[in-house]
Amino acid sequence: MRFEVSKVLDAIEGRLTTDPALARAVLDLSEVVRWADLDGGRPASMLRLGLIIDALGRHVAEENVPVYAVVPRSLLSDADLTSNERMVVRRWADDGVVEVVPQLGDRVLEVAELLGLPVLTRTRAEQFRDRSPWVEEPGRLLAAVPGAGGPVLVARIGRGEVPAVAEPSPVGRKLLSRVWGCPESTCAAYGSGGDPDSPFADMRKTTSPVSQPPPTLLAGVPTCPRHGSRLRDAGPRPAVEVLSVRIDGVVRKRFVVSTEQPVVVGRAPEGGGVMLGQWLTDDARKWISRGHVRLALRGPELSAQDVSTNGTGIRPDGSLNDDERVTLSRDETRALGPNDVVELYANVHVGRAKLWHNGGVSQPHSVMAEAPTMAIRKFER
Ligand SMILES: [Zn+2]
Repeated sequence: MRFEVSKVLDAIEGRLTTDPALARAVLDLSEVVRWADLDGGRPASMLRLGLIIDALGRHVAEENVPVYAVVPRSLLSDADLTSNERMVVRRWADDGVVEVVPQLGDRVLEVAELLGLPVLTRTRAEQFRDRSPWVEEPGRLLAAVPGAGGPVLVARIGRGEVPAVAEPSPVGRKLLSRVWGCPESTCAAYGSGGDPDSPFADMRKTTSPVSQPPPTLLAGVPTCPRHGSRLRDAGPRPAVEVLSVRIDGVVRKRFVVSTEQPVVVGRAPEGGGVMLGQWLTDDARKWISRGHVRLALRGPELSAQDVSTNGTGIRPDGSLNDDERVTLSRDETRALGPNDVVELYANVHVGRAKLWHNGGVSQPHSVMAEAPTMAIRKFER
């Protein structure tokens, strides 16, 4: 049983991010683990985070949807969690996949406001509205209620639609336009500060400057949410574009292309990139090269370069008309219009994440697949 729980926690870990470009919702982990009515189990359980991640995936009908978890430090020693769970949360904290704060305060609301994300919480909007009037906008607070097939997310106000791409607030946009450096040498979020000469610049556990979480504002001053130290402005941050991989109508994965980091998409790109192999039919797998198309961002311009054997298609404005389809042959590059879709094979598409408002899948792959049946017996029918 312990082994199975560890596998679930690994699956959950794959869905945790503090990357502003990829997170789809923000939550307070110490709140979520106590929603005992979701499974009728222990007072606190990390598996509830998995149930909520699954609920978010169903809510946006998309595969591999990640959440931004804020963790008050007290949870790292919460005796209601198992020692294994506490150990795992500490590891996540050290790796920077969750954000640890000494005191929760308003941090969850702050992240939600700066990044334009919904908050997964059971607190009612009335309790927040004096400080954060935007919580009364439709769909900004989503509560998890038990449902027949697992928890369901319900908006207090509006229909609870989660935008395909979150719009940061004006202050958020400003903060995200800079790279920040924390004076604490062990800082997972702002460790290297984007300074390549820093002795910590290539530490595996340091968040890349492109995906740094938003600083907290303390009396208007950008501050490290974990260490409370004033952050150093380490220069401009590379621009990013969020893209989605959509295969047979289902959004499988999102990824980020930055001005510093082009990304190769293919069956199994060498040296990293976006690997599609696991989602392809045999015919598609034969057609698509290991590394097939290279996406790069120069200034505001996103471009696609074919690096394949069989060529890459571009569908201008997503056109389904084959006469309008443009084929790039090897090494050819083309700038992508805002609604252009890159086609690696029939129905194997890459485009800007905002193109697809619905992920196209009603039952996304569950992070709870390996869960011991006891933990989720409430949902068995
Ligand atoms: Zn720090």
